[in-house]
Amino acid sequence: MTTNNNSSLNFPLRLSLFIESVNNSTLNVKTCKAITGGGLGKNNGKMPGRTYGISAWRCKTGSKLAKIAGSVCSACYAMKGNYLKYKNVRDGFIKRADSLTHPLWAEAMAVQIRRYSTGKVFRWHDTGDIQSLEHLLMVVMVAHATPDTRHWIPTREVAIIKQLDRLVKAGQVTIPSNLCVRVSSHFVGQKPWRTLPSWCNTSTVSWDDAPDTCPAPQQDGKCLDCRKCWDKTVKNTNYIQH
Ligand code: SF4
Repeated sequence: MTTNNNSSLNFPLRLSLFIESVNNSTLNVKTCKAITGGGLGKNNGKMPGRTYGISAWRCKTGSKLAKIAGSVCSACYAMKGNYLKYKNVRDGFIKRADSLTHPLWAEAMAVQIRRYSTGKVFRWHDTGDIQSLEHLLMVVMVAHATPDTRHWIPTREVAIIKQLDRLVKAGQVTIPSNLCVRVSSHFVGQKPWRTLPSWCNTSTVSWDDAPDTCPAPQQDGKCLDCRKCWDKTVKNTNYIQH
């Protein structure tokens, strides 16, 4: 059993201790769910695999963009409908966001993903976004510890991505091949980000020059056998605005 609090260690040593802890973890699924504020989200019938979302109200960049007309976040589904209407739904996402500081959060995530998502895909942040460099490092560690799962994490937190890239360039952190980080453009119709680290992919919404577009609207809103969002060879994924 290790803790999130080993952040003072160099990353390779921290990662190796972390993987050893996950391999020998004594945490059961019930405890993991409690540690991570309720655990993984279930398949919603449209997208394959399990998910993990935190409160969209905590999005650092997204909550500012939500107030700007024409931004992708101004129509954020996670800030309206059931997410707003039902207190228990809203509180659940807040609880998950609060759980990020639990000393066993990363281990509890890795144990659950090994249990439910081995050989499958996993989506981070169907709601919410990266809160800090430490948060992103924990996601990287969890992906390293679950090599048989393909991870996709969309984000708007370019400043945190650049912080991580400094560690990547210094040889301290490696991005695992099973983790696809997609940096999302802020505005509807905007082209993809250009000045990003080479390990990043991108996503856009209703970008007219996109070579191809998410097929879900033609498939009853379902991914079916499409896995482009997780595919690092697909440089940009373009979605149509709802
Ligand atoms: S691009 Fe493919 S994997 Fe991504 S949301 Fe659309 S259908 Fe699903």
